[in-house]
Amino acid sequence: MHRFFVPEVVAGVGETVSLLPIHHQLFRVLRAQPGDQLLVLDNAGNERQMEVVSIERRDTLARVLEMRPAPREPETRITLYQCILKADKFDLVVQKATELGVSEIVPVISNRTVARMGRVVLGKQARWESIVREAAEQSGRGALPLIGEARTFAEATAGAGGTRLLPWEEGEANPGLVSALRQSTQPVSAVSILIGPEGGLEAAEVTQAIDAGWQVVSLGQRILRAETAAIASLSVVALALGQLGDGPMVKMQEASKATEAQAAASKAVDSEVVKADAAMQDKQAQAETAPKEEQPASVEKPARSRRTKSEPRKSEPGKPVRTKRGASQSESATATSRPRQDRTRKSGSKS
Ligand code: SAM
Repeated sequence: MHRFFVPEVVAGVGETVSLLPIHHQLFRVLRAQPGDQLLVLDNAGNERQMEVVSIERRDTLARVLEMRPAPREPETRITLYQCILKADKFDLVVQKATELGVSEIVPVISNRTVARMGRVVLGKQARWESIVREAAEQSGRGALPLIGEARTFAEATAGAGGTRLLPWEEGEANPGLVSALRQSTQPVSAVSILIGPEGGLEAAEVTQAIDAGWQVVSLGQRILRAETAAIASLSVVALALGQLGDGPMVKMQEASKATEAQAAASKAVDSEVVKADAAMQDKQAQAETAPKEEQPASVEKPARSRRTKSEPRKSEPGKPVRTKRGASQSESATATSRPRQDRTRKSGSKS
């Protein structure tokens, strides 16, 4: 089902509204018909399943069938500070960053950036926003990433938040992205990544970033093109944060809460076990100190029968027969399913 971001749609279930902002796409491109259904996101966290009621030359009307929360956005806010690149390269970075879960893309002007601030602002913002919208609809995002205002390198490095990572191909022994995220003393709630321009960053700029709290990281031995470095960095960060199919590789704000809850739950279980152990031991102690009932004289202990070597050992009732390997069959068969109190008895006998 086609998805569209139409922030203007705020209607409730059952209401019929105009879809003028996307009428051209529906009428001309998709040749939609009455009865067709589509998903409309309002970029405020809601997704509406809608049905085309009428579609004429001038407008499309559609009714809201169902309304639900938009798909979950990544808990960790990722901001890409990307030095401006030549035309289509920056477009590529905007598209791929949107698919990879970025929350905001900030165009940056550094000393070696080809573009000049003036030219960047003119006209590009609208173009990048339309690339973001298309990539967000195609990839099923729940919200539209922002295109921030273009900033100078100094403004960008001073104004960024969260865990700030600066991939730089010079310098020695810089950690990789995952190690840098793991070293972050705080649970990772937000990540900022800054990628240089085609001509690279000057050493003085890197020093300025370090002074502003950025961690320089390596993307390996090979020199990556700026657009490759941006896509690779965002992919590794998304993987580390558990957004690419595997679980998180670093402790995150949300994840840490989840682990705290888990720890509390297992602590509760352990205290139950301790209580049960203590009760068991009390019972045992009482049994040992209670006066022994007289054994009736008729019950005699059976004399131990002398067994010849060749005779196989008979299993005495209730006793496991020991197999060649030493473990008794009943032990080896039930070892994993042994009930908890049996284990307790064993630990009880140790005390
Ligand atoms: N010095 C590069 C060259 O000789 O072509 C120019 C910079 S590179 C094309 C663009 C940006 O990608 C760099 O500023 C850096 O942010 C990032 N980058 C590329 N390769 C990298 C690597 N191996 N480690 C860290 N960052 C890298």
